[in-house]
Amino acid sequence: MTDETSFAFATRAIHAGQMPDAATGAIVTPLFLTSTYVQTAPGEHKGYVYGRGGNPTRTAYEACLASLENGTRAFAMASGMAAEMLVLQTLRSGDHIVAIADLYGGTYRLFERVLKDVGISVDYVDLSDATALPLTLATVLRPNTRMLWLESPTNPLLRIVDIAAAAHIAHAFPTEGASVLVVVDNTFMSPYLQRPLELGADIVVHSTTKFIAGHSDLIGGAVIVRDAQLADRLAFLSNATGAIQSPFDAWLCLRSLKTLAVRMRAHEENAQRIAEHLQQHPHIARVIYPGLPSHAQHALAREQMHGFGAMIAVEISGDLATARRMLSRVRLFSLAESLGGVESLIEHPAIMTHASIPPDVRAAIGISDTLLRLSVGLEDVADLIADLDQALA
Ligand code: PLP
Repeated sequence: MTDETSFAFATRAIHAGQMPDAATGAIVTPLFLTSTYVQTAPGEHKGYVYGRGGNPTRTAYEACLASLENGTRAFAMASGMAAEMLVLQTLRSGDHIVAIADLYGGTYRLFERVLKDVGISVDYVDLSDATALPLTLATVLRPNTRMLWLESPTNPLLRIVDIAAAAHIAHAFPTEGASVLVVVDNTFMSPYLQRPLELGADIVVHSTTKFIAGHSDLIGGAVIVRDAQLADRLAFLSNATGAIQSPFDAWLCLRSLKTLAVRMRAHEENAQRIAEHLQQHPHIARVIYPGLPSHAQHALAREQMHGFGAMIAVEISGDLATARRMLSRVRLFSLAESLGGVESLIEHPAIMTHASIPPDVRAAIGISDTLLRLSVGLEDVADLIADLDQALA
């Protein structure tokens, strides 16, 4: 595809990084299952040497992803955690991270039980109060802070951080060396609904397992950046440490990107209807969805995102037993971890996705025993609503 940047998102999602196959004319980028590439003479090759360093299927997918996030380079990794780890490998012992308090449990576990052991310290802060943001960050940033790690909306409470404001403050902070890198985990939104690099972030990470792959059939991750020097460092680290995505999974993700725009629109349409319905439900105490005017940061969500996404958190009236009963009754929603697939899922963060966060920390963040998280899929919305109603009855 030529002159990619002039095309709109949905067009780039189908064409960016992809040309008909030079050998056959195949319109779909071939799946190159090869570990190595033949050289015509030592050191003479077509740009591909060994599969860990490069694979044409992965290259096409990475180019498409970089285009959609409005970055210059993307790295397809074996999982979301591998993508996070690639970014974190740029740090050294003695470095400091400021992270948003309401984080995916696996990221918290990586910070607490892997990074801390190698001398990297992490402080967690609630950054959802836009007025308090400058003071909060000024208090917690340190001369050795190297990264500000954000999720917005957060997992599972869907709090929203003003990414542009946070990036501005972090970049202006006088550190002892390189300036603070702002990392945004964009898993919940996908590049269709939010593009953090355009808001001033330096690095976007994804668990592509979720909306990008979109069909609950693979595990993957990605890192997207703009800065050439940072990209070179990540390319080196990716090859040196090796947690790259397999060609087949890269091919599946490239295929999934083609429908990302339509899927996200349909996910969101269903989610908005369900959030509005649950808000009226007598057995639901609270609905958290950025698309509802009752969401504390609805205005910011409207400004910063291009839609409100498919994730809903609800507080069910009652106690843990009530929550368990409801979860055992759903028939169309599946009780499962993960999110972002065409199938609707429901889960209990305190027992499932966020179990690796200690109970006192969970309570302080606001993850209660009656909190449920929904990933709204692409089934008919009337069927989904009927299922929730019968489970809550
Ligand atoms: N980031 C977020 C927001 C997630 O929800 C997850 C997984 O649930 C991850 C990162 C980790 O991704 P993966 O499971 O693909 O390793």
